[in-house]
Amino acid sequence: MTFNLPIIPPRQVTGLAGQGASRGGGIEIPIYYPATGQQISTLIEDGSAAVAQAVAIARDAFDKGPWPHLSVEKRMEVLEACRTKILENVDELARLECAATGLVLKELKARHMVRAAYNFRFFAEYISQSKGEAYTQTDNYITTVTRRPVGVAALIAPWNAPVALATMKIAAALAFGNTCVLKPSEQTPLSLARLVALLNDVLPEGVLNLVNGRGPVTGAALVANPDVDLISFTGGTETGRAIMSAAGQNLVPTTMELGGKSANIIFASADIERALDGALQGIFSNNGQQCLAGSRILVERSMFDEFTARFAERAKRIKVGDPLDDATEVGPLASAPHMNRVLSFANMAREDGGSVLTGGTRRDDLGGGYFIEPTAVLATSNADRCAQEEIFGPFATFLPFDDIEDAVSIANDTQFGLVSYIWSYHLPTVMQTQTHLRSGVVWVNTPMMRELRAPFGGFKSSGVGREGGASCERFYTEEVTTSTPIKPVQLRRFGAET
Ligand code: NDP
Repeated sequence: MTFNLPIIPPRQVTGLAGQGASRGGGIEIPIYYPATGQQISTLIEDGSAAVAQAVAIARDAFDKGPWPHLSVEKRMEVLEACRTKILENVDELARLECAATGLVLKELKARHMVRAAYNFRFFAEYISQSKGEAYTQTDNYITTVTRRPVGVAALIAPWNAPVALATMKIAAALAFGNTCVLKPSEQTPLSLARLVALLNDVLPEGVLNLVNGRGPVTGAALVANPDVDLISFTGGTETGRAIMSAAGQNLVPTTMELGGKSANIIFASADIERALDGALQGIFSNNGQQCLAGSRILVERSMFDEFTARFAERAKRIKVGDPLDDATEVGPLASAPHMNRVLSFANMAREDGGSVLTGGTRRDDLGGGYFIEPTAVLATSNADRCAQEEIFGPFATFLPFDDIEDAVSIANDTQFGLVSYIWSYHLPTVMQTQTHLRSGVVWVNTPMMRELRAPFGGFKSSGVGREGGASCERFYTEEVTTSTPIKPVQLRRFGAET
C-alpha cells in the first residue's frame, strides 16, 4: 500500500540566521515521510560557525533594538500579526508538519495550528495585563520592581509536535521582549522552517532566527554559546541533563519540559464509559507520542479484567493508516528507529513476565511506513521496564491497584512526575489521591486540559521550571528593583569631618 505525500516539501531545508546571512555547507541529513519511509527532503546542517552567526544576529537585535524597547501596544500588534500569519497558512503548515512527523493532518489543522496561533494571542493579551510592584518604606522611599527582557533566548523543540510546542516558546520569548534562536529537531524541520519565514515577514529583522541540525552538533553549539542568555528546552530527560550542564557553565536560566510516564488512575467509583474513552484518548492521541500521555493505566482490581478487556477490544478497532485520511485515528510513528524501539517494549513486557493484550507488532500491510498496532500490555509489577520507561508511542501498560494508598504508591514510583490522571466521582477519593501525587499537573475526570494561564511542568526527571502565563513571565524577564527617595535623605558624610 502507498500513501500520497501531504505536500511537495522543499528539496533542501536550511537554517535562517536573519536576512543576508550566509550559511556554511554542513552535512546533509535526510528527512523521511513516516507514512511511506521515502526520503522527501534534505536538511543542511548548521555547524558551529552558522550557530555563532545566528546568535550574533539575535544579540545585535536585542542590544541595538528596537524589539526589547517597543511599547506594549506595538508589540501586541506584532504578535497579533504573527497569529494572523499562522491562521492564513494553516493548511501549508499542517501539511509540512504532517510530511515530517506523520501526525494526522485533520488533527494538525484543527488543534495544533489553532493552538499555535492562539499562543501568540495569549501572550499578546498577557502583556497588556502585566503588572509591576511598588513598595513604600517609611514615608520616604518608593521601591519599584519592574521586569525587563532577559536577552537572547535559545529555544529547543522536539519532534512530536513541533509547531504547537515551539510557538509556546517563541510567542512567550518575544512577548516579553527577548530575541530568539530556535532549533527544531533534525527529524522535523519542515514546518518550523516555513513558520519562521512567515513570522519574519512581520517581525523586525534579527528578532527570530533559526538553526537546523543534530542536537549534539547544532543544539550543543547553541546552548554553549556565551551570548545566549536563557534556554527553554522541551525534549528527553537525558538531553535535558546535558543542556543543564552546558547552561551551568554560562550560568544561564533554563526551563526543562522533559519526559513522562504518567499514571492514569481509574477507580471503581468512576464513570467507566468516560474513563474508558479518556484512557484511550490519553494514550493514543498524537500517535501516542506525547510527554503527557497516560501511559501507565492503573485500574482498581475489582474491575481490572473487565476494563482491560474492553480497552483491548476498542484498541483493536482503532483506524491506523494514512495521515491524510480524515478517518484515521492513529498514524505512523515518527521514524524507523523509534518504531523499532516502541515495538521492542512488547518483547520486554513478555520477558519480564507480562502479557500482550493487543498489538505489539508492525502493520506490514500498510507498506514501508512506520505503522504499528495500538498496543496494550499487562505488566507483572510496576518495576517492569514497560512500566518504568517512557515508551512514547501508542503503547499502554496496565497495572491493578487495591486502594488509594496502593494507587498513589504505584503512581509515584517512577523517576517521572509530569501528569497524573484521576477518574472517580467520589470527591474524597479524588482529593485524597490528588494530595499525595507527585506530579506537576493532575487531570480529574478529563484526559487533557492545557490551561495556558496555569503552570505546566513536571516534578523529578520530568522537568525543571514551568511554562504558562505567569511562569513564562518570570522566566523570560529579569526583575529590576529600583529605590528612589521622595525627598533628599540624610546621608552619612564619609571624610567630611576636618
Ligand atoms: P530529544 O531530547 O532527543 O531532543 C529534543 C531536542 O533537543 C531536539 O531538537 C534535539 O535535536 C535537541 N538536542 C539533542 N541533544 C542536544 C544537545 N546535546 N544540546 C542541545 N540540543 C540537543 O527529545 P525528542 O526530540 O526525542 O522528543 C521526545 C521527548 O520530548 C520525550 O521524552 C518527551 O516526553 C519530551 N517532551 C516533553 C514535553 C513536555 O512538555 N514535558 C512535551 C513534548 C515532548 P535533534 O532531534 O536534532 O537531535
